[in-house]
Amino acid sequence: MMSRMPSLSDETDEAPSGASRGGGASLSERVRHFFATPAGKATLGALVLGALAFGGYRFFGAVGSGGAEWPRIRVMDPETRDLRWQEVKPGERMPYVNPKTGERTMYVVEYCFDNACGPNGGTPVVLNNYLNIDEPTTCPECSAEVRPHNPRPQQYANAQPADW
Ligand SMILES: [Zn+2]
Repeated sequence: MMSRMPSLSDETDEAPSGASRGGGASLSERVRHFFATPAGKATLGALVLGALAFGGYRFFGAVGSGGAEWPRIRVMDPETRDLRWQEVKPGERMPYVNPKTGERTMYVVEYCFDNACGPNGGTPVVLNNYLNIDEPTTCPECSAEVRPHNPRPQQYANAQPADW
């Protein structure tokens, strides 16, 4: 779940469209039409963000020990391959600081579980897209292409990367 956080980018999840039966516009039908308008979409976005924030607050509030707890993402320095967890706080943006160098060189990773990378616990990879390199990203271990929300072979669908 956490691995999905960084890709807030440019995908919009469409709400599932309920099947409409019968003639007259039902309530759900009218709600759907409302959410299809720009104002409706803004409202829906605010509702979803509010629900996420509230849910996150409750969740982290429940497990936290007093201090603020933020969602964490796995980030890597593609040069040094240093890995660490980055808390996603308001105002924190990629690239994140590599504490070993003090430079902003850490980016969220995708994991390759293709080929030998699967049995080896997954290989963390920074997408070329983040580095302004206009070429497909390939895994440094097995050369498989790595994409946003990188798909995994089914047997590794729920595998936890070995470096976590
Ligand atoms: Zn690989």
